[in-house]
Amino acid sequence: MSDLPNFKFDLEHAQGWSGAAGSARQHTVNEFPVSTSFAAVSMRLQPGALRELHWHAIAAEWAYVISGSCRVTVIAPSGNAEISDFGPGDVWYFPKGHGHSIQGLGPDECHFLLVFDDGRFSEFGTFSITDWMARTPPDVLAQNLSLPADAIAKLPKEEVYIVQGEVPPTAAPASMNANLEPSQLNHKFRLGAAPLMSFAGGTERLVSQQQFPISSTITGVLLTLKPGGLRELHWHPNADEWQYYIKGRSEIGVFGANGKYRQDEFGPGQVAFINRGFGHYIRQIGNEETQILVAFNSPDYQEISISSWLASNPPQLLADNFGIDLGAIEKMPHAGRFIVGAA
Ligand code: MN
Ligand code: MN
Repeated sequence: MSDLPNFKFDLEHAQGWSGAAGSARQHTVNEFPVSTSFAAVSMRLQPGALRELHWHAIAAEWAYVISGSCRVTVIAPSGNAEISDFGPGDVWYFPKGHGHSIQGLGPDECHFLLVFDDGRFSEFGTFSITDWMARTPPDVLAQNLSLPADAIAKLPKEEVYIVQGEVPPTAAPASMNANLEPSQLNHKFRLGAAPLMSFAGGTERLVSQQQFPISSTITGVLLTLKPGGLRELHWHPNADEWQYYIKGRSEIGVFGANGKYRQDEFGPGQVAFINRGFGHYIRQIGNEETQILVAFNSPDYQEISISSWLASNPPQLLADNFGIDLGAIEKMPHAGRFIVGAA
């Protein structure tokens, strides 16, 4: 069934940057055309490896740590800055243009997903500090940074992107400026520790702008489906949906109006993209619980599920709509189910 365009991308087998200090695999609209509103990077940093100081001109960065730990530095245009540590289950949000860096803390590799709210973020919008300095006249840098010419001459001649550094001390060191105010709009949210919502077929944790005020363009969900569980037929009126499979497998069926439909299977390291307003379901397959990281390009979470929709209508209207008798209508759910248990 393939009336709709491909909505599956194998992120962990994608092209990218790879070196001794770490790796980055990505999708943009070039590799995954349907995903115009999201780009993503799966990044790994060895202990001490530094994703250098940079900013993104056209996209905000929302991230989820899968394993290991890392430390980020970030500055806002207000001058407020933060240095904070992240571990498994933690989310960060850097608004468009906020300068930041990420460093692996060890003892193991840190693996995280970066989700950008624009599919074109990479080509037109990632600004690295070494790239910038390498293009700037040396005498301008010397004047700006109060450094002698021989020090300027030792700066990198190209973008370093990820560079091996010292493993930072356990306690976060102070920044150079002792007079900085802590940020009033914290960049960190512990999604793995957010309230757990339980349903017959699985669980959900949610982070929208309501819980995480700085996150004005992305809402995140951590979804687990028990074997046989079904995230029931639903749609999102206000957002496209991006999914990354952390573990386990699922089947997704997407309905795009006018008879258009497509169905596919997803497993670890693969990404799904579902357009705003398109009807879809997610059914767990296999014996292992399925864990999915989901992002929506909206500050709030909106969905309409088929069972809550149907249950909001009079039984006779449904009987007329489907041409079946009232006895069958009565057997249908009388409220939303969200994640249905195994059949
Ligand atoms: Mn970044
Ligand atoms: Mn959905």
